Amino acid sequence: MKYFIITFGCQMNISDSERIASILEEAGHKQADNPESADLIVINSCSVRQSAIDRTFGALNKFKNKKIVLAGCILESDKKKFKDKAQFWNPADYFEKLPRRESQFTAYVPIMTGCNNFCSYCVVPYTRGREKSRPAKEIITEVESLAKRGFKEIFLLGQNVNSYASKFPISNFQFPIKSQISNSKKEKDLNFAGLIKLINQIPGEFWLNFISSHPKDMSDELIETAAKSSKMISYIHLPVQAGDNKILKAMNRRYAVAHYKKLVKKIRQAFTKYKPQIPVTISTDIIVGFPGETKKQFQNTLKLAREMKFDMIYIAQYSPRKGTAAAKMKDDVPQFEKKRRAVALDKALKKTAFANNKKYIGKEAEVLVDKISNGFAFGKTQTFKNVKFPAGNFKPGDLAKVKIIGAKAFNLRGETIK
Ligand code: SF4
Repeated sequence: MKYFIITFGCQMNISDSERIASILEEAGHKQADNPESADLIVINSCSVRQSAIDRTFGALNKFKNKKIVLAGCILESDKKKFKDKAQFWNPADYFEKLPRRESQFTAYVPIMTGCNNFCSYCVVPYTRGREKSRPAKEIITEVESLAKRGFKEIFLLGQNVNSYASKFPISNFQFPIKSQISNSKKEKDLNFAGLIKLINQIPGEFWLNFISSHPKDMSDELIETAAKSSKMISYIHLPVQAGDNKILKAMNRRYAVAHYKKLVKKIRQAFTKYKPQIPVTISTDIIVGFPGETKKQFQNTLKLAREMKFDMIYIAQYSPRKGTAAAKMKDDVPQFEKKRRAVALDKALKKTAFANNKKYIGKEAEVLVDKISNGFAFGKTQTFKNVKFPAGNFKPGDLAKVKIIGAKAFNLRGETIK
């Protein structure tokens, strides 16, 4: 059979799709070039956002004459709506499966799955279950293999990577470590900072990053390690969700605004110390219009966004997810007001992001090329900034030396350095 996978949602779902593809290939199926020419469609969906569920409905209707399997983070209540239209892929973690990688130079490596935090708006603890860390030796072996095959960019993935916990069988290791793992009897506890330290020593020229973090679990040790590790890029995604303590409490985030501010300060100080060339990029997630959020409370979020000078904010307008604690609260911010708050926040973001990007003008940067289109190369810097420059002979996966000659809020323009 020919199969095609449609993926909605976060990088974790993208990573799962690569592993689902490898399971299908092992069973003798072949990937189709497009959904129209496939016999089997796998929709890897997500109940975190209503938009993904709406798009899943759309895909189910569009391909109703084909065999359809639904996978991913889907709430039982959403599953019931789909049950006559598709079969379900049994919930599974795909850790031990080697993925069929879509990219030859960017790899997503899951290190843990699930979440114990129960933020009041979020379905993940219900759809993915409790936290489960992947054994460190499996992660190390996978990253070693990616590095040997010349991958340039590796993302460590998990719902809350900061609470990663595993055992590791050696204390004084050298790479390659595979043989030592099997010989050693001694085990030691490994936290997320420890895992980064290990991966940072794997030979090979690759950029390392991780998503996502929880501010309550981001330790000083982790900040210091991330800033100090030569392979870690200068980019931290740290979801704040709101800039008002009462709303944070209602969201069950278990930190206060002051704690978040301190973390950002520490991150900036540590990265300035070890990677002083250009300021660290900091992005966040914010939900506007959470139940009970007053205009004044939203102003506090706006104030925080300006103060933190974010490079990017992934803004969500609150919508209740069935089965969560927040779904029992009154969704009392009108839709037009949620939209207004999202627009106001976006306006503030564009100002801070533009001010940050202007600092790049005249500077040189190494850019990993993602794609070529219409004579231009598009790629990312080691600070996760998008850059567009004349393509020349570059191809996806190349590293280019570029001088930045122009800046907008969310991208930079460059010229190649001869
Ligand atoms: S930390 Fe909160 S928002 Fe993130 S996955 Fe867990 S419950 Fe959801």
